[in-house]
Amino acid sequence: MGFLAGKRALIVGVATDRSIAWGIAQAMHREGAELAFSYVEKLRERVEPLAASLGARLTMPLDVTADAQCDAAFALLKREWGALDILVHAVAYAPREALTGRFLTATSREGFRIAHDVSSYSLTALAQRAQPLMSGRRGALLTLTYLGAVRSVPGYNVMGLAKASLEANVRFLAADLGPEGIRVNGISAGPIKTLAAAGIPGFRKMLSRVAEIAPLRRNVTLEDVGNAAAFLCSDLAAGITGEILYVDSGYNSVGMSFPLEGEG
Ligand code: NAD
Repeated sequence: MGFLAGKRALIVGVATDRSIAWGIAQAMHREGAELAFSYVEKLRERVEPLAASLGARLTMPLDVTADAQCDAAFALLKREWGALDILVHAVAYAPREALTGRFLTATSREGFRIAHDVSSYSLTALAQRAQPLMSGRRGALLTLTYLGAVRSVPGYNVMGLAKASLEANVRFLAADLGPEGIRVNGISAGPIKTLAAAGIPGFRKMLSRVAEIAPLRRNVTLEDVGNAAAFLCSDLAAGITGEILYVDSGYNSVGMSFPLEGEG
């Protein structure tokens, strides 16, 4: 029996079979969780077959910027499941212009607003609706963040600010929901080639820098992130909340990297 047997999870953020949310869904399915998936309307035809391949009965449209869709998605979960154990939030967006060129000139008021609304506020919006369904259960919320929240990274621009907000969101939600037994954590993943990543300038350079410098000398995989996510959302992690867990081959721990004299 898997360590998520008997748990019900809503996965928000699958776009393709290369999505981080898909890696998480696969690991959670393997560990025995029952899954529901949301999708943005234009991706319905891609997401539904993926959901079906993991035996998911429930799929629903959910644009996190639309309150009515957020309400409808959780009303459906309440009707069908009555309760929820796990919410995976793997959603981020910034307008392309905001990720093009220098941070100073690329960052408009509107780009800032959109990036923060989709990529950070949405976690609060979903938590508000998940909380009543998690009451009396050992619920877990999980989001995905990136090193750009705490260090400058070329080209990541306003998305770094939105991720900083998202990480604060994790801590404030953890404090708020902890007394009810609901845990809130984030995974700071190393770069992985996905649709969202394709919008980040110099992404290929990010991949090669990690492979060159990170202690593990390789990039992380969907399986690496999926397994860590399954653990964090399980009762095995019952004592962990308000945490940002780096799944990045150790890249964040390195201050400098170069061969010492006499080394290759
Ligand atoms: P992805 O493109 O596969 O997933 C991004 C998802 O966000 C898509 O499913 C998309 O539909 C969804 N989304 C965008 N706007 C939305 C909205 N308004 N409403 C609902 N959903 C919306 O890319 P990914 O890389 O798997 O991204 C998932 C998360 O992982 C993001 O938060 C991303 O910042 C984070 N992350 C990615 C990397 C990486 O290198 N790929 C690294 C660290 C963190």
